[in-house]
Amino acid sequence: MTAMYTHLCGDLRPEDAGSTVSVCGWVARRREHGEHLAFVDVRDHTGIVQCVVDGAADLRSEFVVRVTGTVRARPEGTTNPDLSTGEVEIGDCAVEILNAAEPPPFPVTDRVDADENVRLTYRYVDLRRERMQRNLRVRAAVNGAMRAAMDRQGFVEIETPLLWVPTPEGSREFVVPSRKMNGSFYSLPQSPQIAKQLLMVGGVGRYYQIARCLRDEDLRADRQWEFMQLDAEASFTTQDEVMDFIGEAVLDAAEAALGERPDPIPRMTWLDAAERYGSDKPDLRFGMELVELTHVFAATEFKAFSGAGCIKGLRVEGRADDFGRNKLDGLTDRAKSLGAKGLVWLKVTADGLDSPVAKFLSDDEQAKLRAALEAEPGDLLLLVADDRHVVRSVLGTLRTDLGRPPVSEGPYRYVWITEFPMFEGTDEAGNPLPAHHPFTMPFPEDLDLLESDPLRVRSQAYDLVLNGWELGSGSIRIHRADIQSRVFKAMGISDEDAEAKFGFLLGAFRYGAPPHGGFAVGMDRFVAILAGEDNIREVIAFPKTQSGLDPMTSAPTPIAAGHLDELGIRVLPPKKD
Ligand code: ASP
Repeated sequence: MTAMYTHLCGDLRPEDAGSTVSVCGWVARRREHGEHLAFVDVRDHTGIVQCVVDGAADLRSEFVVRVTGTVRARPEGTTNPDLSTGEVEIGDCAVEILNAAEPPPFPVTDRVDADENVRLTYRYVDLRRERMQRNLRVRAAVNGAMRAAMDRQGFVEIETPLLWVPTPEGSREFVVPSRKMNGSFYSLPQSPQIAKQLLMVGGVGRYYQIARCLRDEDLRADRQWEFMQLDAEASFTTQDEVMDFIGEAVLDAAEAALGERPDPIPRMTWLDAAERYGSDKPDLRFGMELVELTHVFAATEFKAFSGAGCIKGLRVEGRADDFGRNKLDGLTDRAKSLGAKGLVWLKVTADGLDSPVAKFLSDDEQAKLRAALEAEPGDLLLLVADDRHVVRSVLGTLRTDLGRPPVSEGPYRYVWITEFPMFEGTDEAGNPLPAHHPFTMPFPEDLDLLESDPLRVRSQAYDLVLNGWELGSGSIRIHRADIQSRVFKAMGISDEDAEAKFGFLLGAFRYGAPPHGGFAVGMDRFVAILAGEDNIREVIAFPKTQSGLDPMTSAPTPIAAGHLDELGIRVLPPKKD
């Protein structure tokens, strides 16, 4: 209740019959009823209520009104079970027009699909839709539950700067020119990574923040240049503890959004995920695991298999008949585009294996292959032979191509992925490529491999995955200068480079850095999944389009020449594509 309304529109019920009420909102719809009477539906964020208004001639869609009248039961046969207020109406209404409105650019109802660009141009109208109101509130409930969980676990909410220096996540950075120091720039942080580590050196113990992060990357449906993370860091802790306290916040948030608490989150090593699902973000809502077949073909005569480092297979249960020649060629092309030399397909029939390559496989190999894949007549079997990492990633992708349900389809399957490799292959110069930021602590027992066999070093890094989406990642950090210097060296980062980029952090570490570790949960994706949305733009009040534009404000916009002078900046003519 406020000075202007006694009730919210969606809250009126038969029990309110007889009371005089005032509601405020927007005109959702008006239907004439005889010469003078009109039914006017008034909407606010809680829903719609029907008002019976005398002489409502100048009330049009999206006018802002205050209606005062008496609640009464709707006459028999006119109730509307689709509305929470469908059993009542407000009668004898006095209407005050608080503001007129131009006709809306699209109907304000979930039932009508409007073009996204138009929706974003008039986002303030779009936000009045029930779906958007619901999504914003799911988001607020998730934020609230996470804050409460972190507070309860002794974490302190601390804001960190946006005007900052380069951070180590490895994306391109947005920069802000300095007016006072022409030629110098602030970097907008890709995450509060360095700041939160400095807070640990600063004796904070446990920090968290729902932080804005900025990365100048190519945009996709699941990405925005600015996005939110639940960011946390703790001192004197282990990876198990970090997973426990983040898990607590995530499960609380899911419960707040969906009304049901998910089971405790299981764990899986990176190696297990790679071998069984061909992915470091396995979607556990469906089976179709990758099956090891290398041993089956150890002595094979079949050229495409002999000498291959790894052979694995996938069973597409009962779908052999769905795949005619064209579709099978399509699958083969897909496998090649993913880096495989080819794809072997076999259809299981009552008489044996139907496949162009069946004649090259011995009876024993065919029998063992069928047994290993637990194949039944009607199944389609897909096999790839190649280097182990190629086999995993190609079959892992085919698995999701062929089996993955839409994101918004339950059940929700969370999993922690642990024991990531420190490096994911090597670059052209032969330097190992770091899989995480360079402050990630290796397993102590793997430290000596840093120099001799870096690709075998496991890091104390862990990801949280939900339905095949990476929800976030974290690690135990390196807090000792000697280990950090060995890791930089293994990554091909010279001491000078490290000093130039992260010198102040390394400097701080000389003044007593405690062992510490943390995590960050990507909030936009998490909320989108909980809200049943495929696109994160549906859970962000004012998102940018896929090309990074804001059709409502027209950002980014040129700035005046005088302003550029102040910033000491001259703009080059636009690039021709
Ligand atoms: N800063 C990391 C990220 O944004 C997360 C972490 O390691 O805490 O991915």
